[in-house]
Amino acid sequence: MELSERAKSIPPSITLAISAQVKELKAAGKDVIAFGAGEPDFDTPRKITQAAIDSLLAGATHYMPSSGTPEARGAIVNKLRTENNIECTQANISINAGAKMSINLALMSILDHGKNQEVVVPTPAWVSYKPMIELAGGKMVEVPTTVDSDFKCTPAELEAAITPDTKAIMLNTPSNPCGTMYTPDELRAIATMLEKYPRVYIISDEIYDELIYSDIEHLSLGSLPGIAHQVITINGLSKAYAMTGWRVGYACAPENVAKAMNTLQSQINTSITSFCYATIPVALEMKDEVEEMRKIFASRAALMYELIQKWPNTECAEPTGAFYAFPKISHYFGKKTPAGTMITDSVSFVQAMLDETMVAVVPGTDFGGCGPDHIRLSFACSEDQIKAGVTKIHDWLYEFSSKT
Ligand code: PMP
Repeated sequence: MELSERAKSIPPSITLAISAQVKELKAAGKDVIAFGAGEPDFDTPRKITQAAIDSLLAGATHYMPSSGTPEARGAIVNKLRTENNIECTQANISINAGAKMSINLALMSILDHGKNQEVVVPTPAWVSYKPMIELAGGKMVEVPTTVDSDFKCTPAELEAAITPDTKAIMLNTPSNPCGTMYTPDELRAIATMLEKYPRVYIISDEIYDELIYSDIEHLSLGSLPGIAHQVITINGLSKAYAMTGWRVGYACAPENVAKAMNTLQSQINTSITSFCYATIPVALEMKDEVEEMRKIFASRAALMYELIQKWPNTECAEPTGAFYAFPKISHYFGKKTPAGTMITDSVSFVQAMLDETMVAVVPGTDFGGCGPDHIRLSFACSEDQIKAGVTKIHDWLYEFSSKT
């Protein structure tokens, strides 16, 4: 039976193929160190889990409104107003099954099929942006960045990609996969440029806004009055609250967009899972626990960066947010590994490294832009694992370099 063009257009993920291999190797008893995970290795703080259990026992097992409960929407409004300086009310909020669903619904609310609409995205960028944009009928236009600018683009570079067909630009700071973030001044300069395009939406993915390891402050584009009416802020509980499996994300959008997102949600999956609403006010109050986890991530970030800087013939931007380092490894393309395998690209580099060192990372290929010259390592794992794995890679690269 035939599949739809839509289904056929979605490429399988290289990241998943590597994780499948890691699982197989582990099942076969091999001692693999994996730096692939895009999720915290911490358990969800107990108070949050308890809130869900209490909610279940209190009978929250029925259909819920697509727009969510007033308590959950209120807690999100409070977080955005006090921590992000975003002027908003409950009418601006849509609560969805993960930030991924929030982005999907936002794109479906603003894009049409068959109208040649473009969404400008600085790359390397999170792998799901492109398929999500295309599923909603748009076309992703890349603004490539490099390690030399910490993977950040200038207002002029972004503006050069804007055409009459541009419907939205999408920014992600702190960034997956780059691990870097824009400074407030850089974002203000981008915002000033965007004021010239008042009909272009700005989707600001701030899912890592509480995971910052330098003195750079996070600035929400939605807090800048000149562009606030254009901004759809995306966030969620997955990363900072160690709640990836719960699937709780949200958007703060112009009222008509938030309403459209809720209506679309009502026809697609009704709402998030009933008892997850009760976790939102509890989680958003848990600043001490989030700070605990942030501090641990910060010390892992510093350790990983220190060790990666010792790798021969590579370049890495200092990870200042999210939980990723994104070193450039293209020096090794066209050369043979210690075991004699020819490296042609990031995928063959990652495969050979897994075969020869039993350390797994993510090839940068799927992230776009200069991504194919890089690999991504997540530091959502223990310091022991970081020390052992990053040192193994060092020794392998050292042998590799002295051989070629
Ligand atoms: N945005 C970015 C940049 C991400 O890295 C992720 C998760 N990998 C998401 C959004 C989606 O998060 P969620 O689990 O809430 O769907």
